[in-house]
This record gives sequence, C-alpha cells and structure tokens, in this order.
Amino acid sequence: MPHAAVLRRLALLALAGLASCRSGPASSAGTADLVVYGRVWTGDSAKPWAGAVAVSGDTVSALGDSAEIAALVRPETRVLANGDGLVTPGFMDGHLHFLDGGYQLASVDLRPANGKTEFIERVAAFASEREPGEWIVGGDWDHERWPGTPLPHRSWIDSVTPNNPVLLYRLDGHMALANSAALRLAKMGRTTRDIPGGVIVRDPSGELTGVLKDEAMNPVEALIVRTDAQRDAALKRALEHAAARGVTAFAHVSVPLAELGAYQRARRAHTLTARAALYFPIEHWREVADTVAKIGRGDDWVWIGGVKGYMDGSLGSTTALFYHPYEDDPSTSGVLTTPEDSMRAWIGGADSAELQVVVHAIGERANGLLLSIFDSVARAHGVRDRRFRVEHAQHLRRVDIPRFAQLGVIASMQPYHAIDDGRWAEKRIGPERIKTTYAFRSLLDRGAVLAFGSDWTVAPIEPLLGIYAAVTRRTLDGKNPDGWVPQEKISVEEALRAYTMGNAYGVFAEDRRGKLAPGYLADLVLIDRDLTRIPPEEIEQAAIKATVVGGRVVYEAKGGRVTLGRPTQPSADTPPQAP
Ligand SMILES: [Zn+2]
Repeated sequence: MPHAAVLRRLALLALAGLASCRSGPASSAGTADLVVYGRVWTGDSAKPWAGAVAVSGDTVSALGDSAEIAALVRPETRVLANGDGLVTPGFMDGHLHFLDGGYQLASVDLRPANGKTEFIERVAAFASEREPGEWIVGGDWDHERWPGTPLPHRSWIDSVTPNNPVLLYRLDGHMALANSAALRLAKMGRTTRDIPGGVIVRDPSGELTGVLKDEAMNPVEALIVRTDAQRDAALKRALEHAAARGVTAFAHVSVPLAELGAYQRARRAHTLTARAALYFPIEHWREVADTVAKIGRGDDWVWIGGVKGYMDGSLGSTTALFYHPYEDDPSTSGVLTTPEDSMRAWIGGADSAELQVVVHAIGERANGLLLSIFDSVARAHGVRDRRFRVEHAQHLRRVDIPRFAQLGVIASMQPYHAIDDGRWAEKRIGPERIKTTYAFRSLLDRGAVLAFGSDWTVAPIEPLLGIYAAVTRRTLDGKNPDGWVPQEKISVEEALRAYTMGNAYGVFAEDRRGKLAPGYLADLVLIDRDLTRIPPEEIEQAAIKATVVGGRVVYEAKGGRVTLGRPTQPSADTPPQAP
C-alpha cells in the first residue's frame, strides 16, 4: 500500500520534529488518500490561508493552492470540493456533557415549553410511552420563557406520572423538578434538613415543591442508575449529533468515572467519530490518579484530561456566587457549592498528582476565589505546565480579568450562553455588573487564552452558533441587534481560534491538533460559506457540509443543507456513514 509508506515516512518525520517544517505540497512521490478543495483557513499564523489540503492516512500531508494539491490526486483519492465555502480545522468543544446530551436526545424535550400547560403536555406524552417504574430524566426546561417565570411544582406532573419517578432539569443543570414518586424513593419530605451547597425549595407550608438546586439534587440523582447498554446508546447518539455539527473533539466535563467504559468500548470498536478528553469529578481525584497510574492517560481518541470541580451554581438558578446580592432577589448573593477549604485541598491534591484541574466558576466572587486558590496552589507547588482552567468565567470583576494571563489560567467559555442569558441577565445583576459579563474582548486584550465550547446539553452544541454569538452578541430575543455589551465582541478569526487552537492548547494537544499543517491530525470541517466574508449576522445561517476526523469522512450533508436552527426547531440530521 503506497499510502502506508507515506504514513510511515510522515510518522518518522514527525518523530524527528521535521514534519511541521514542510510547508509546500508533498513531493511528486506523494499521493493523497483525501483531498479537500476550498478556501482553507488553516489556523496556522505562519500560513493562514490555502486553496486545498491533502491528507494521508489520519494526518494532513500538504497544504497549497489547488493546482499543487491536485498533483497528489490518484484514482483512489477521495476528493471533496467545497466551492466558495470555508474549510477550517475541526471544531473542538471545550466544555460539554456528552453522554447527558446523548441521554437527552432520547428523553422528553422541555426546552420549547412556553409555560405550564405545554410543560405538562410534553411530560404526559412522554410518560405515556414509558414502562412503569422507569425513570424519566432530562427535560432542559427554562422558566425564563414562561409568563411570570414561576418555578415548576411537582403538582404539575404528579397526575401524569403516577408510575414513574421523574427528575426534570432546568437547562443549566443547576436545578431540577422531582415528582412525588422520586422524592418518596429518595426519602425526601418536609422533615428533610437543608443540604449544604444546595437549596430545597419549599412551599410556605414547609412541603417540598419538588424543585431541588445544586447539591440538593444529589439524593435523587444517586438513585438513577444507567446500564452499559444505555451508556453506549447515548454515546452513539451524541457522536452522530456532534459529527453533523462539525465537532471533531470535545472535553466531557463532570463525566462520572462509570462512563469511562463507554468511551473505551467505542475506542476499541473504532466507532468514535470525535476525540474525547475526559474530566472527572474533582472529589474523586485519587481514583482518577489511580486510574491513570493503572491504564495511562490514553491517546488522542480517549484522553484522561483531569478533574472538574464546581465553585458555584448558575445565574439562571440564582446560585452563581457574587460579592453583592442579586437585584431581583436581594435575599441571596448566590451559593458557594464547595467549601473553600475542600476546594483548596482537592485542587492541591489533584495538582500534585499532575492531573489538570478545571473548575466551574460563574459569579464574580466564585471567579475571584478560584483564581486566588489557583494562584496559591501554583505558588506552593512550583512552576509546572499545569494549564488550570476556569470553566465559564462568566461574570468577572475588572481587576480579575488580567489575572487569567498573569496566572496562565485558560478561560473556557461558552459564547451561546451570552446571547441566551443576555435576555434577562441585567434583571438579575443590574447595569454595572453586566459590563464585564462574557468579557471575550477584554480577556483576549489582556493576553488570556480563550477556549470556546457549548456546555451541551445546557446549550445547543453547534460551534457555528457559538461563533455567531461571540461575533454578534445578538440576544435570542432579537432585542440587541448591534450586540449585547457590544464592546466585548470578537472577530470571526478570533472565535475560530478559540474553537480550534484554544481548545487544543486546553488539552495539551497543540502540537498535533487545532490547526491544519503538515503532520497535524486531519480533523477538519467544510462549511457552506466563508464566515470571514459574510455579514456577521448571516453566520447563523451557515451549515456544515462535511466533517472529517482522522482523515475519515464521518459526516456528509445529504439531500440539502443541514441548517443550524434555533434550539426550538429540530434540525435535519443525517447520521454519519458507518465506519
Ligand atoms: Zn457545564
């Protein structure tokens, strides 16, 4: 096989550190397994644009103009022509909940529910097709969509779910509605004491409403057990969903250790169509370190990245931690979901085990505290390439913005949240605090590394929608056509970089992923239009035409475009080709 020889040669070149020096097309002896024509944004600052890319095996072998690359085409070469569209490095999603996304794709969908009636109807329809006793978990409801924004109550759904325990999450995952059957199984009732780091919402009479926030969800969640078959099916659904949206790699954060097996099984069966980096709950850092000692960190398909913790809750659930009270609920400044001492000990332990530490912080105070803990642990343990990450970094005091670059902390952010939360964030935190909210521009200007993601299933997984959000900051309600907090907009190329190289750096893979250059892994996407040449508001209509991972075409739009669509509209999926 001639391309096996090419592959071997490339591997040798890569080992010798020479592959990245090759900038022209391969020599006349070279052939390509795959050639992609189009306007190629390489992400490589030395050579940002090309007219075509050639792939041998799982690796980019050459970039050049279309004539140069055409010389590598042989009868057996697969050719994809993208016309005027854009070709970019594959999108990497720096923060999502992948199997939860897979579960949710097959669960009740409450995201479109515009009020109590629709909420109940959707739950009733789904429950009527379940076996008695089967758990109903999922939902992704958003009470900010409902008139008067009341929180749901278990009485809404008890009569339509008499035979099934139910736990329905708000789309941010920071609160959920349990029905009475689920509360009974968890032995929760009016005499249940408050749970540190969480909120049990009660009626004035003291009875539980069924809404549980953050740590208070634990007693119910502990009862939900998934089988390996359910996990494998969820992973398969999630991979198909991701491939159709151009996601070639992702960081699955807060992944339970029990889900590692699903990734390993798919890795062995060669059914992965995206590369996974896994971040397990930080409180289990010892087990994670033991696992790494036993089986190693993995490879570019399944990589044990490290551990993930939580400092606070979310803005939508009024549990993000601030220095000052909420405008619309002065009784609270948010919730510190993990005591500072525990967090310091866990981060310190995980860091000494050389695990990468990534921690959720949304409110200003959560971010300020976390940056200080990162700082003190790094000082105590000495210089190391540790790449701490703040997940969300949503609301920052101005003084904390430069600390990201100073401390070498990555800002792992999800731009779609900005155009979603932007509808109502000011009501929660007032006109001053919103000025440094989702501060993409300020963080970049102060030298921080931005890594973008979706937080799927909290938000749609579509990277194109994330780019649209970061570049336009137009809120979903259409009320900010010139952008919400417009001074924090960034350019298309900056957003592309945050979705590619930013995330490669975020998982220590920047020497082989995140840009299109000879010797880099051939993960790339074909987009139907050039995002850098259209008005920013049109990015929302862009679509993925094909997704390539490790040189293999894992998704191709058939029978017309796959459109992005708002989260309320189902989009036409075509499953990827069988491997
Ligand atoms: Zn998340």
